[in-house]
Amino acid sequence: MSKLKAVVIGSGIAGIASSIRMALLGIQVDVFEKNENPGGKLNEKWIGKYRFDLGPSLFTLPQNVDDLFSLAGENPKDHFDYTKLDRVCNYFFEDGTTFTSRSDADEMADAMSDAFNVERKDVLQFFEFSKNVYDLTTPVFLKSELTIKSLWKKRDTYKAIGRLYQLPISGTLNSALEKRFKDPKVIQLFNRYATYNGSNPYSTPAMMQLIPHLEHGIGAYLPKKGMYDISKSLYELALRLGVKFHFNKTISRIIHANGRATGIALDDEIVSADIVVSNSDVYPTYRHLLRDLSAPEKILAGEKSSSALIFYWGIKKEFRNLELHNILFAKDYKAEFDAIFGSRTLYADPTVYINITSKQVKTDAPEGSENWFVMINVPHLKGHDWDVLRAEARRNVIEKINSTLHIDIEELIEEEEYLDPVIIQSRTGSHLGALYGNASNDTFSAFGRHANHSSALKGLYFCGGSVHPGGGVPLCLFSAAIAVDRIKSDFQL
Ligand code: FAD
Repeated sequence: MSKLKAVVIGSGIAGIASSIRMALLGIQVDVFEKNENPGGKLNEKWIGKYRFDLGPSLFTLPQNVDDLFSLAGENPKDHFDYTKLDRVCNYFFEDGTTFTSRSDADEMADAMSDAFNVERKDVLQFFEFSKNVYDLTTPVFLKSELTIKSLWKKRDTYKAIGRLYQLPISGTLNSALEKRFKDPKVIQLFNRYATYNGSNPYSTPAMMQLIPHLEHGIGAYLPKKGMYDISKSLYELALRLGVKFHFNKTISRIIHANGRATGIALDDEIVSADIVVSNSDVYPTYRHLLRDLSAPEKILAGEKSSSALIFYWGIKKEFRNLELHNILFAKDYKAEFDAIFGSRTLYADPTVYINITSKQVKTDAPEGSENWFVMINVPHLKGHDWDVLRAEARRNVIEKINSTLHIDIEELIEEEEYLDPVIIQSRTGSHLGALYGNASNDTFSAFGRHANHSSALKGLYFCGGSVHPGGGVPLCLFSAAIAVDRIKSDFQL
């Protein structure tokens, strides 16, 4: 039998991972990417003498990356290495309180009980609870297909149901935290975890209490060469396995006949395939590539996650009071999220996140300088004039940094570029510039994402942050595994 042929639309992290998994099944894989390099949102850029990771900055579940090298019979450490962070993030509160979070749960509990009105044992109990929720829900919700039919086939579902009483099935993340903790700073700190998937802590389900386990149980990491090494090293692995990449190639249509995907169309070429995997956002996949197929309107209309505005600044000074990750909190966190998800505007006193990889990767900035990735959460696109908003946000961000750190940051900026929701949408195809596809702002949002296969067309599969199980690098890698598991069973490989 001749080799099965697959095409992948897009070389985001899930597109690359699915190409690796298919190549390992003996499938001939061609990846078509509209940009000039692989990685999608997980990308990098040099601005003058400064290197910046353009998108993700927080790396959790590194095992998902290691697994791909191991599956290919390679030693992950020979190609991709990372450091576990002891000190995760420096927090700056409006009243002048500062706090450094730790990966290690015991150390974090000690530090929290020193800094805040909270008992060590309560923090440890919360982490234990977070682990429990993570362990019970991950096999059911994150690591395999999620359909009502598939749920009842999984033994883990019955295990989770049997321990339903241990799961936070009602309320929001914020309401759960308010029941557990008294100190508003502790609540604000743990509420922030909702932003890890672009959600609103005041409406995202209490189940999101599983996220702290990622950071304080499994740990937070940084690739030794920076975040882009995740994309780069996996791209190189795919090349070694014979995957062919075609850059600057935009797919304009998915071709199908008799209920089966049969290939893709580029402007000047048709490529036939037995398997089509779309790593493009699911919204443009239906609206542009499958115009002739009826679309899952309810899923496409789902509320989108937040977007981001980022300033990449080359800063000609080093700051001892800053770490790799730093958060300058808004005074009124609720008002900030009301603005982002309610009135869909910018908030004048935003929470500012500053990521400085040169703290760990010394070659990312010239000596005596730092590469600042300065980000605020913003609403996804909704008729905003981003030229106006960006200028306004820049003023607010600078004011926040100056008043919190007691500096004049503007005079230290020697290089500058930015990323806003408009560019995120145009560069990576993310509908409305949302970072994580549909938001997780209600109890059933896990069921509101598109499956990893098409129920209308045989041979069509989906992976990436806009489909099940959701956005963020670890979940995108899960999505690739689920999609290719399905291919394996559909084609009896
Ligand atoms: P994407 O990165 O969305 O890439 C899709 C690719 O498909 C793109 O390269 C695009 O050009 C290509 N494509 C689309 N349509 C076509 C077409 N028709 N033809 C050819 N090519 C096409 N995650 C974390 O885990 N931690 C973080 O700290 C974090 N922070 C983030 C910060 C920012 C600013 C952003 C933007 C994202 C962040 N994320 C973070 C989310 C994370 O980056 C994404 O969830 C993940 O990288 C998405 O990967 P993906 O596989 O869905 O593909």
